[in-house]
Amino acid sequence: MQTQVLIIGAGATGTGIFRDLALRGVECMLIEQRDVNAGASGGNHGLLHSGARYVATDPHSANECKVEGDIIKEFAPHCVENTGGLFVAVKGDDDEYIKQFPINCKNAGVPCREVSPEEALELEPNLNPDVIAAYEVEDASIDPFKLSLENVADAETHGGVYKRYMKLLGFNKEGGKITGARVVNTRTGEESVIEAEQYVNATGAWASHVAEMAGANIRMTFAKGSLLVTLSRLNHRVINRLRPPGDGDILVPGGTVSVLGTTSVRVEDLDNVAPSIEEINRNIDQGAQMVPALDTCRYVRAYAGVRPLVQLGEASSDRAASRGFALIGHEDEQLDNFITITGGKLTTYRLMAERCADLVCKRLKVDAPCLTRGSVLSDYVQTEWAEPSILTKREWMRRHNSDDYLLCECEIVPKSAVDAILDSFGPDEKPRIQAVGLRSRVGKGSCQGAFCGARIAAHMYDRGLFEGSEGVDSMRDFLSKRWKGQRPILWDAQFNQAELKEALYFGLLNLEMD
Ligand SMILES: Cc1cc2nc3c(=O)[nH]c(=O)nc-3n(C[C@H](O)[C@H](O)[C@H](O)COP(=O)(O)OP(=O)(O)OC[C@H]3O[C@@H](n4cnc5c(N)ncnc54)[C@H](O)[C@@H]3O)c2cc1C
Repeated sequence: MQTQVLIIGAGATGTGIFRDLALRGVECMLIEQRDVNAGASGGNHGLLHSGARYVATDPHSANECKVEGDIIKEFAPHCVENTGGLFVAVKGDDDEYIKQFPINCKNAGVPCREVSPEEALELEPNLNPDVIAAYEVEDASIDPFKLSLENVADAETHGGVYKRYMKLLGFNKEGGKITGARVVNTRTGEESVIEAEQYVNATGAWASHVAEMAGANIRMTFAKGSLLVTLSRLNHRVINRLRPPGDGDILVPGGTVSVLGTTSVRVEDLDNVAPSIEEINRNIDQGAQMVPALDTCRYVRAYAGVRPLVQLGEASSDRAASRGFALIGHEDEQLDNFITITGGKLTTYRLMAERCADLVCKRLKVDAPCLTRGSVLSDYVQTEWAEPSILTKREWMRRHNSDDYLLCECEIVPKSAVDAILDSFGPDEKPRIQAVGLRSRVGKGSCQGAFCGARIAAHMYDRGLFEGSEGVDSMRDFLSKRWKGQRPILWDAQFNQAELKEALYFGLLNLEMD
């Protein structure tokens, strides 16, 4: 296989670079070891930062967030819920930090407006009545899956080639040049070489590992963050704690749920990351100080993501380390056709992609400007089902043909939606249930796959997409991933739900799970 530019890693950054280069008319291929947003891009808060969170620790990043947040709201409005946000302090929070906040916002160019505690409570009735200070900011919530899937779809319509389940194993080199990327199709085990003029390492937390394969060295540490999803939405706006960043101090609403996070814990093993019970308890204890309902509400799931922290200087702690991004040309290591881009934030992914694509084009001597700033991201049909349904089940049944029954009842995902997702896969790519879950709300509701897992497996058997035990293996894989997120929140109703799932799959179907 050959291409002009090979991009490795299909998170927000890699898919952003893919779209940027494709819009500039550069021939490019994107490879991903699993599927879109398999790393931090699928394990974050979904907060489109106004920048206010960073005004005290990193004013430069704060301003970058403000500028990029505004750009994303313009070009991808359908991926954003423009909720607005509040920063709130409760009794006992640091007075000095509260006093400095508006000054820091002003210095960083991040708008904020003081609101009285009474007004804050009117805007967000679930807030702690002991609020002592509040500021309104321009935070929003963003759907990272929709964003990345649409970046890919748009790049493909401009000639880009996306290969999922394609893992980089190493590089072939001659002198100071990479001559090929050795890859394996993780589904078939088939190995091949992709030759390109430029190779872009957009593998997030895995970037130092991939750089090592190229003979380069990047010093990185890794901080895991764990988050929880509530069954129903508790807040209209993003609610942040007005204090130095800590555990459980952000509550982001998105569609029908709220997401509470996050912790920050050093990790070494990037491929086995899961939220721990201790982290979940810490998030709830701290979060409930802002929004007391977090102590008693029902949670459906927890998940975790890993932040790569590039060691460019000394920072006093992981939270104080810059959330800026690193673009490394590797010229000092005599690698003039290899580029690494890592760190940063979802909010700044477009800027990261622009800077990286500029460097690629400079090296290729391509004179084509970046077009992503102004060009609206199309609302592709393939990503329609990533959004929560606005209909109730009864309303759905009333409005739709009875043949189009619901395969996921919690989140109202019908057969037609699952078929549209399955049809978007090429004849040589065998989709699994996990791929349907990634592109839709399947498995995200209160049953966490208990009913939809088996229904979708059966539907895929009916369509001839599974043979022998393939569907059972896929179901096990899908349910194991959901189980990872259920394990740390097993109490009350979600515990009963898990018991039922266990009885169905272990008891009736004799399915062993990890
Ligand atoms: C807990 C947490 C909360 C966060 N919350 C927010 C937030 O609310 N707002 C915000 O703006 N930012 C947030 N961030 C930061 C944001 O999620 C990341 O900056 C962003 O998602 C990074 O995207 P990426 O594409 O660079 O990396 P990733 O999303 O990690 O993508 C890297 C990809 O490379 C692939 N890959 C790795 N090795 C290989 C290989 N050998 N071959 C092929 N593919 C490979 C991986 O599978 C992965 O899909 C958060 C981060 C964390 C961890």
